[in-house]
Amino acid sequence: MKAVRYYGPNKPLKVEDVEIPKIGDDEVLVKVKAAGICHTDLHFLDGTLVPWKGTLPITLGHEIAGEVEKVGKNVKKFKNGDRVVVNNNKSCGKCEYCRAGAQNLCENLDQHGFTIDGGYAEYVKTIERTLVKLPSDVPFEKAAVLPCAAGSVYHGLVDQAKLQAGETLLINGFGGLGTSALQVAKNIGAKVFVVDISKDKLKMAEELGADGVVDGTKSNVSEEIKKMTGGKGVNVALELVGLKKTMENAINSLAKMGRYVIIGYTKDMLEVNPLSLVVSELRIIGSVSYTHQNLIDVVELAHKKKLSPVVSKIVSLDEVPEALQQLKEKKIMGRVVAKP
Ligand SMILES: [Zn+2]
Ligand SMILES: [Zn+2]
Repeated sequence: MKAVRYYGPNKPLKVEDVEIPKIGDDEVLVKVKAAGICHTDLHFLDGTLVPWKGTLPITLGHEIAGEVEKVGKNVKKFKNGDRVVVNNNKSCGKCEYCRAGAQNLCENLDQHGFTIDGGYAEYVKTIERTLVKLPSDVPFEKAAVLPCAAGSVYHGLVDQAKLQAGETLLINGFGGLGTSALQVAKNIGAKVFVVDISKDKLKMAEELGADGVVDGTKSNVSEEIKKMTGGKGVNVALELVGLKKTMENAINSLAKMGRYVIIGYTKDMLEVNPLSLVVSELRIIGSVSYTHQNLIDVVELAHKKKLSPVVSKIVSLDEVPEALQQLKEKKIMGRVVAKP
């Protein structure tokens, strides 16, 4: 089968022919119907992230939807032909974090497309605990994007920030995650303000229902946000960019008791005056990936037509390296999805 293989930082991805994986008694073979192309892959290519276990090369692609092709004899909940979306966190199910429902923090975590083979291939081998059934009215290309682009912001906004109806939210960066964050926040009943440096992306944010947008190239972003919130600032800020400047803007835009949630990987340092945290009781919160329940919830939201990730382009596996290059050059709006 065809697969897009990663050989290490600063090495080109190779589209190669590899064996179709053989499954054991507890495993499931999924025929990949769609795989989301994510900014995180660029971090592997430039070395910001390196697979922390396992061996290279691996098949990248951690946002996967498909159809069950084959199940091992111990697999009970899924059968051939089931439509599924794959939780890329292949957790152990036994450690204290798994038992608490925080599979994203599993002590023995493997991740499809990070440490084990992912979805830029015709087939992927997984276990039934990673699978969520996909209703027939959610197309594969939208479903593929749900785990990372929707699940991770859902985790950040719902579990971590505990965003409430009537509260205000600032979204820093309006890419694939940003568009999902806007929809999740609107469903909760929050007012949403979007900051980005791209005029096209700000226009899209307005079309998708943002209550206000701010051009991130301006010097007074936090003042603009304060103006839009009656001088108070926002209750929650969501960081999807991770630059020193955007992080400063976010902190300075918070209202008293504000929560600042950081998602994604960044090399930039965040400098904060502790006094500003103390006197306004601000909280800075990290948020990584999503729990299995989060994935079940976002699939349900998609089924109810309350969440529809923006998929801007479909490419073949051969075109994945080129699509990642375009993503790097910021030529992509919404998400690109690969279809084997
Ligand atoms: Zn991703
Ligand atoms: Zn675990």
